[in-house]
Amino acid sequence: MKTPLLVIGGGLSGLAAAVRVARFVPDVLILEKHSRIGGLNSYFYRNKTLYETGLHAITNYAPAGEKTAPLNRLFRQLKLKRSDFPFCQQYQSEVIFLHCESLSFSNDFQLLESQIHQKFPQCVDNFQKLLRFLNSLDPFSPAPFCSAKKKLIEILGDSLLSEMLLCPLMFYGSSHENDMDLNQFAIMFQAIYQQGMFRPLGTIKNFLDQLIDHYQSFGGKIRKNTEVIRILHKDRAVSGVELASGEIIECDQLLSTIGSDETGKLLSDEPASPKARLGFTETIYQVKEVKGNQLPQEKTIIFYNSSEQFGYKNPDDFVDHSSGVICFPSNFHGIKKGEFIEIRATHLANYAKWKNISSDKNEYAILKAASSCKTLTCVENIVGNFSSNVVYQNSFTPVTIERYTSKIDGAIYGSPVKVKDGDIGFNNLFLAGTDQGFLGIVGSMLSGVSIVNQHVLSKL
Ligand SMILES: Cc1cc2nc3c(=O)[nH]c(=O)nc-3n(C[C@H](O)[C@H](O)[C@H](O)COP(=O)(O)OP(=O)(O)OC[C@H]3O[C@@H](n4cnc5c(N)ncnc54)[C@H](O)[C@@H]3O)c2cc1C
Repeated sequence: MKTPLLVIGGGLSGLAAAVRVARFVPDVLILEKHSRIGGLNSYFYRNKTLYETGLHAITNYAPAGEKTAPLNRLFRQLKLKRSDFPFCQQYQSEVIFLHCESLSFSNDFQLLESQIHQKFPQCVDNFQKLLRFLNSLDPFSPAPFCSAKKKLIEILGDSLLSEMLLCPLMFYGSSHENDMDLNQFAIMFQAIYQQGMFRPLGTIKNFLDQLIDHYQSFGGKIRKNTEVIRILHKDRAVSGVELASGEIIECDQLLSTIGSDETGKLLSDEPASPKARLGFTETIYQVKEVKGNQLPQEKTIIFYNSSEQFGYKNPDDFVDHSSGVICFPSNFHGIKKGEFIEIRATHLANYAKWKNISSDKNEYAILKAASSCKTLTCVENIVGNFSSNVVYQNSFTPVTIERYTSKIDGAIYGSPVKVKDGDIGFNNLFLAGTDQGFLGIVGSMLSGVSIVNQHVLSKL
């Protein structure tokens, strides 16, 4: 028997797409290569403690009553109850360009406006002009790449403010070096500055478990440890997939959430050569809470840059410590602090360099430790000393991301070329997730939902 819809990938886009379809056609099947669901946004255990792999904060915060907000639209499409998901809003975040300027922002947009008033008084009118321009833009209509950086400098007339506004949005969703697509900028501007950031009260595991239970309550199925190695097709029509075990599963419709070039590899023995991608490292420090520590108590995320010019590009060295993101997952409203707190620090990293040494386990471990040490110094320089209270630390490189999600070059934001309509030239195969162009947790879930709404539901 043919499965009406197969979904390759059990990350958040695949899960959301599958829930949406299972509401109407229960026989949906998710095929996930790994033993755990969640993809980039999953979790692991060390020393009997659960660590989240990818969660700093969820973007697109909206109160439950705001009917048209993307978060609430997503919940309605998935038939999820907001009251089943207690969310905690960020305290306040900050962009710090060291020795230069800083800007705070929160889920109240007025804070950012007042910061610009105070620190960039010459740009106040131009900032309002930028808001009017973004308001008039339809960022979801397919358009060729347009430089957000150029447009910002043109409207704001101030390169420092432009770079400072770009910094968090690039770190949380640009697959382009030193720039960002204007439409992506508009989406992320609204998601981060105008709507804001939050996290679930529990862990990402609780969030994923709730989604999986909901999906299964409609009759949806998941097969873990199930790698798709080939997509079977003829004359632009897909008939099914071949698994690593040799098993063939036939389907009417196929949705791939693993990336466009990654999907290309399953379609052809000679896939197109992928475009250059951006890699990241992250170190998680578990820190003992001690009375009187100097760490920021009310800052949720700090985006920093210590160079004269903010650079967002593949570094020449293993890691670029000159800029990064520092996240305090316990600094959200409603999160109770325990005996330990976490500090997470993220930087751009060079995939090829890490890959080259990864076959030498010893050398790889030494370089990872050295990089984490340098990260610690950079972070302490900004948030105060905490190294004497670190009880455990764990870090990943782009090679880790590649190993656990099969993303080419371990690139979290995938290919710089996005397929906005999810159409890759087949009658019954579509693309959702990272390479469709909506990034982050809410973005990838909306991607899954919008692609099945557009291309799949009416055909089942
Ligand atoms: C360190 C880090 C921090 C992040 N921080 C945030 C944050 O704070 N806020 C936020 O909103 N977003 C954050 N993100 C981004 C967010 O996690 C992703 O944008 C989102 O989860 C992408 O989901 P996806 O479904 O598109 O892709 P993926 O999560 O990559 O899902 C694809 C799935 O496909 C599976 N797969 C691949 N190949 C095959 C195959 N051949 N057969 C079967 N299965 C296959 C993979 O194992 C994976 O599970 C972060 C990501 C990382 C890594």
